[in-house]
Amino acid sequence: MRVLMVAPPGAGKGTQGAVIATHFGIPHIATGDLLRDHVARRTALGRAVQAHLDKGELVPDEIVLDMVQEALTAVAATGGGYVLDGVPRNMAQARATYQIGLELGMTADVALHLKADDRELKRRLLARAALEGRSDDTEEAIEHRLRLYHELTHPIVAWYGERGILVTVDAMRPADQVGREILAALEVMSSFVDHVPEQSRRAVDLTGLGAAFGEMTTDPSR
Ligand code: ADP
Repeated sequence: MRVLMVAPPGAGKGTQGAVIATHFGIPHIATGDLLRDHVARRTALGRAVQAHLDKGELVPDEIVLDMVQEALTAVAATGGGYVLDGVPRNMAQARATYQIGLELGMTADVALHLKADDRELKRRLLARAALEGRSDDTEEAIEHRLRLYHELTHPIVAWYGERGILVTVDAMRPADQVGREILAALEVMSSFVDHVPEQSRRAVDLTGLGAAFGEMTTDPSR
């Protein structure tokens, strides 16, 4: 199963990426984690990107795309499944990631879009700031990351919709519920992806699923 995730900060990419990776026994490639690791180890790359990360700016495309190329090439040698988390973040990265996938014969089967509103995202990120102290979980950097998501990243969602590989889930609910829904959808899809050509697929919107089963509230405390 080859999955990439498109989601705003705080929607649960890291959490759900790990759930998917464990379930399917595939590597979880998280560009944010890779970049933070470079910063922590004070590598030349880490020193070059630290200011971007702290301010909530995107790091230059070439840096991230080199990482993706390297990670996917390594994955190609080990079976080819993956969960890409944090990339693409703009249209140029989306096209380049597709190109890398084409060259390696391993384009994504599913683009997973985690949908949540800004108020909830801000609440989660500020709560995480108190626990983890990530340098970009300040109020100012959070606002900026959300702005960049709406401006640059969200427009990619429509592109995956047109390609028929988009799966949208409601990420406003507790992580375990979201995770179960994602795994159920991916399990169903995994039996089709190898046989059904991309041109014949349609986007899947699961955001109404909870409501369809009488789940009237998205507030877990009620
Ligand atoms: P979040 O989605 O909460 O912002 P991530 O760990 O995915 O968390 O990303 C953290 C930071 O890493 C981003 O704000 C950005 O500075 C950098 N980053 C990660 N992925 C990319 C990417 N594909 N392109 C540019 N910058 C990236």
